[in-house]
Amino acid sequence: MRICGWVIRRKTIGKIVILEISGDSSKPYVIALKKEREPELFKLARDLPVGTALCFEGELAPVQKSRRGVEYIAKEINIYSRPLEPLPVDTIGKVPALLDTRIKYRYLLLRNPVEKAIFKIRESMLRAAREYFIKNGFMEIQTPKIVAAGAEGGATLFPVKYFEYNAYLSQSPQLYKQMLMSSVPRVYEITPYFRAEKFDTPRHLNESWGIDAEIGFIKSEEDVMNVLENLIAYIIDYIRKNNVEELGILGVELKPLTVPFKRITFKEAVDILRSEGVEIPEGEDLTEAAEKKLGEIMASKGYDIFFITKFPWEATGFYYMRNEDGTTRKFDLDYKGLELSSGGQREHRYEKLIQALRDKGLNPEGFKFYLEAFKYGMPPHGGFGLGVERLLVKLLGLGNVREAILFVRDRNRLVP
Ligand code: ATP
Ligand code: MG
Repeated sequence: MRICGWVIRRKTIGKIVILEISGDSSKPYVIALKKEREPELFKLARDLPVGTALCFEGELAPVQKSRRGVEYIAKEINIYSRPLEPLPVDTIGKVPALLDTRIKYRYLLLRNPVEKAIFKIRESMLRAAREYFIKNGFMEIQTPKIVAAGAEGGATLFPVKYFEYNAYLSQSPQLYKQMLMSSVPRVYEITPYFRAEKFDTPRHLNESWGIDAEIGFIKSEEDVMNVLENLIAYIIDYIRKNNVEELGILGVELKPLTVPFKRITFKEAVDILRSEGVEIPEGEDLTEAAEKKLGEIMASKGYDIFFITKFPWEATGFYYMRNEDGTTRKFDLDYKGLELSSGGQREHRYEKLIQALRDKGLNPEGFKFYLEAFKYGMPPHGGFGLGVERLLVKLLGLGNVREAILFVRDRNRLVP
């Protein structure tokens, strides 16, 4: 068998050189080269620097003595590249404490089993999501990332010069996935979100990823919440089953979640917070601090994850369906004080949608291409956007969304 990778550790014990090699597996490959058994390879390995790229021909060792990786007996080693300088980060020990260093050298740190485990699980998360959607009859879609109008108004859009037109980077596939509801009953997309907000928080990126779904022919937003909670429970089960090794490397004990998740209305959330002395102005969205506090209160009652339903119209996008009582069919999903997802039932009635745009101070002219789709038999529908980095942060107990994406785009980072 030919195995390839990079030397992440070299240790000499008397007449044995032990190489640990980071390759495609989560745990390193370990080869022990004995002076007596394989004198040529021993000589070669004796002064191989950490960082060397190599392949070896070998077989699984009949006796596994290493606790650090999977042991092989090497028959042949081919060196492909040696580092020009000592590595700037440790590829075997603890990942650097400084997040800045981790972000700068993420590409190299992926040789480190700990850092690699995070991204193996991220990959697994998306694989699980796809599997869930396929099993449930969803069609995967790709919508444009260069767009003429944003779903949430103009403030957070990155402008793009598009020939003689003004365009933007897409902040969400919202409008397009809704348009597709006029012909495909269930769609999903795994997509980047570009948001031009100048925030610098542990939960915001300027380029983040979302798992977006839209479902037609629903009876209420309850149908959407069902899909979302089942999706998350499925993802967790999948990771528990398929990433035992990576969870072990990270020392994370991932507990399964049972559905249905707890639901409270926005009004109940406000009442709970007010009863704890938190001031919430009428008709406003929850602040980050309020959201965090609510997360603590709910966690103390045994609800780590919960929906907040029926958001007030003032705190939602124009496309959410309004109820008679001034609430909407928008919900948020919060996990320990962090918003993981927003979703709800949309307004599918043409006239009401135009009114909603006007009520939000938006010009229906700018949304003509979108509104067209509502003229030809648009069914009631709803969906959600689930933040990939935020979900990963919560599942693995990370502190910052920057730990959950390979290359960070934030206020201060455009490279690497
Ligand atoms: P927030 O209020 O926390 O900034 P949002 O309500 O603007 O988020 P949505 O438009 O509801 O975000 O997007 C759906 C989901 O995508 C969010 O619940 C979140 O998990 C994720 N998300 C949105 N914006 C970002 C971002 N800038 N960085 C990381 N994740 C994000
Ligand atoms: Mg939201």
